Amino acid sequence: MVRPMKLTILFVVGTFFFLNVITFPPVMGLLGELTSPGFESTELDDLDPSFRKRLTNTVTLLKAEGYPVWVGSTWRSKERQVFYKTKGWSQTLNSMHRGGGEEPGKRRAKAADIRLNIPLIYLPIHAAFYHRLQKTALEEGSPPTTRIACRK
Ligand SMILES: [Zn+2]
Repeated sequence: MVRPMKLTILFVVGTFFFLNVITFPPVMGLLGELTSPGFESTELDDLDPSFRKRLTNTVTLLKAEGYPVWVGSTWRSKERQVFYKTKGWSQTLNSMHRGGGEEPGKRRAKAADIRLNIPLIYLPIHAAFYHRLQKTALEEGSPPTTRIACRK
């Protein structure tokens, strides 16, 4: 028979482990891809060349400072954008994540969602990172669309 104290410890450790896994940005991205209609890219090649250059500079600087930066999304399909608008996660159908053609090589998004590649439960670290990201992005001339949950 398992003692109540052991069960409590098992529950706390299990919950902590579970939260670490489901709030890990790549896992969240994968779950989003599996449960949402349409498509969302994480490729820098799907960005407008001028924006891609500024974003790459920003990401390079942040990585040099030791931040494990992860580009969560760049270009998204029309179907995905409609879905986000329907859900209220985006306010527009004319998103900065849209642009160019629908095929790879023709996509020209001017927005990217940047995340710190550690579980979101470590919120203070993310808060510090987003302050730093905003400052760096503005210095590099990137529009401040690099947010944790963009509305465009
Ligand atoms: Zn965004």
